[in-house]
Amino acid sequence: MRQPSATHADTTETYTFDPGSLSSAQRMGDACAICHTKWPRPRARIGELPDGATVFGCRECAEIIASHTSRTVTHALAAH
Ligand SMILES: [Zn+2]
Repeated sequence: MRQPSATHADTTETYTFDPGSLSSAQRMGDACAICHTKWPRPRARIGELPDGATVFGCRECAEIIASHTSRTVTHALAAH
């Protein structure tokens, strides 16, 4: 569901991850940033870090992110 929010002027779909919430493997792209899966190697670009580095995730999580708002992503992270 797309947010009709007017508070968010940025229209890009890119989700910015908090580096502090990711492990080093996740920041390096060696593990899915959402579910920590390391194999198969996460290849889907699901977001980025504040410094512009790409954050990768597995296909499942990429689909979740593609169909949900960033708030849901935060919940997914908290669930683990
Ligand atoms: Zn995943």
